Amino acid sequence: MQDQPLICIKGLKKSFGKLEVLKDICLEVNRGQVVALIGPSGSGKSTLLRCINLLTVPDGGEIRVDAQSLAFSGSATQLPKDRMLAGFRARTGMVFQHFNLFPHMSVLKNVMEGPITVLRLPKAEAEARATALLQKVGLAERAHMMPDQLSGGQKQRVAIARALAMQPSVMLFDEATSALDPELVGEVLQVIQSLARDGMTMILVTHEIAFAREVADKVVFMRDGVVVEEGPPAQVIDNPREEATRSFLGRII
Ligand code: ADP
Ligand code: MG
Repeated sequence: MQDQPLICIKGLKKSFGKLEVLKDICLEVNRGQVVALIGPSGSGKSTLLRCINLLTVPDGGEIRVDAQSLAFSGSATQLPKDRMLAGFRARTGMVFQHFNLFPHMSVLKNVMEGPITVLRLPKAEAEARATALLQKVGLAERAHMMPDQLSGGQKQRVAIARALAMQPSVMLFDEATSALDPELVGEVLQVIQSLARDGMTMILVTHEIAFAREVADKVVFMRDGVVVEEGPPAQVIDNPREEATRSFLGRII
């Protein structure tokens, strides 16, 4: 099991009405690998992350995360029920562009909520775990503040701590720094980088190409619902094989 990819996606398909958003996507991610997913707006990057997290149910294909595998077949897809589904979701920690913190809960409670309600952790244990994670993202002293008292960068670091509290096998970041003022981007990227150093498996949708080059083991370029090109940053970013990759990078760097 150790040598197998941690995540294996095969033939993944998703349409919204007539719009085919994911066309036969295949993707493998090894344990400890950092994958940067890049591509133009509308290419299906968010939909792919949402499918891995089952926020969106694919129409076809397979997704295996660790030992748990699900096959999809349109309306005949049998999703696991309740706790099983929650368990599958808990394998993947998702961080969104707009933080999505619970506004009526303190920073600490935001991080404790998932472990208590989904993992059924005793409150004291959830609190100890949350406190350690807030320390890790540099927000220990903000534990009792409310989300609206924080800057965007701080909110996003809470969101990362909240996702980590579920002890996921993989972290999924969907443009985690796109909504931030430029001076706040660095503190969030630093946290992501420290997770990479700790060996966390991650898929990052990002427009921060310099960061992708630095932190990613593999870069995947998507356009119009297909993976056009993938490989190490030195290939895909610095020496792309495909014209589509070259023209996309030319526009955003
Ligand atoms: P990206 O993240 O690469 O910008 P998305 O995965 O968000 O791309 O979107 C891919 C395409 O799917 C876009 O054309 C978008 O409008 C469409 N789309 C995404 N989610 C939905 C939805 N829930 N209903 C209808 N269309 C959607
Ligand atoms: Mg998106």
